[in-house]
Amino acid sequence: MNRALLFTDLDGSLLDHDSYSHLAASETLALLKSSSVPVMPTTSKTLAEVLPIRSALSSNDPFIIENGAAIYIPAGYFKQQPADTTLYTKGGYEFWEYSQAPSRAHWQQLLSQVSKDFAGQYIDFQHLGTSGVAVVTGLTLEQAALANQRGFSEPIHWLGSNTEKQHFIAQLKTLGAHIVEGGRFLHLIDHQACKGAAMQWLTQCFKENDRSKNYMSIAAGDSHNDISMLEAADIAAVIQSPAHTAPILNRKEKIYLSKHFGPKGWNQVVAKILTQEALINKKDNKE
Ligand SMILES: [Mg+2]
Repeated sequence: MNRALLFTDLDGSLLDHDSYSHLAASETLALLKSSSVPVMPTTSKTLAEVLPIRSALSSNDPFIIENGAAIYIPAGYFKQQPADTTLYTKGGYEFWEYSQAPSRAHWQQLLSQVSKDFAGQYIDFQHLGTSGVAVVTGLTLEQAALANQRGFSEPIHWLGSNTEKQHFIAQLKTLGAHIVEGGRFLHLIDHQACKGAAMQWLTQCFKENDRSKNYMSIAAGDSHNDISMLEAADIAAVIQSPAHTAPILNRKEKIYLSKHFGPKGWNQVVAKILTQEALINKKDNKE
């Protein structure tokens, strides 16, 4: 039997777009746990934001933050520490960290080069501050503080026209930046960092850790910034969103579209994939 590896976006996919709750996905999360399928958050969120979400999910699996800019694996998760990772300790946790992306300071410096040309048309998280981030995200002040603890990228709240946005993106590109459009924000990140590349790197770690198993990656996401992993995974789970249309993929095979929005859709479509692709033992699925 193939072993599933589930890489999942959080906001609008496993977590509700407005309430940030995962409760509607509880049934399939329990099924994944009983089937020992790793559920790996693959998100634009920060490390500080993902840690409490992992606790709420009772998860000890690896995860990917800031749109693929860094990967964290609990120390000891694999038999050997993967190459190019370093030990990172935070809040009583020990992780093997993998990142090749420049720091947030680098992106702030790039933004300062275009700030005059686009004055008043955008505001980034650093300048929004905790209270501003709380307003634009709907997060509590406590959660907004976690969202603003960024290591490798800068989210931008765009206020101008769509045409100006395209000019802004093009100008930053000429400076060597890469912009990913998420459900709510533009994300200024390393041009080599994306959810798809991070997913592939982590999948390779699983393969190298146990060559006797045949791994099958599933990517679940609802937005434009999920396209790289939705295209690269063995199976794509496209989650419908109440806020925007579903991302359009080039691939034609093994695409599952959720019937419902957010975690309710996630719950249904991931369970369907596990059954139809024979990724769980029949006895695991009580349906
Ligand atoms: Mg999303």
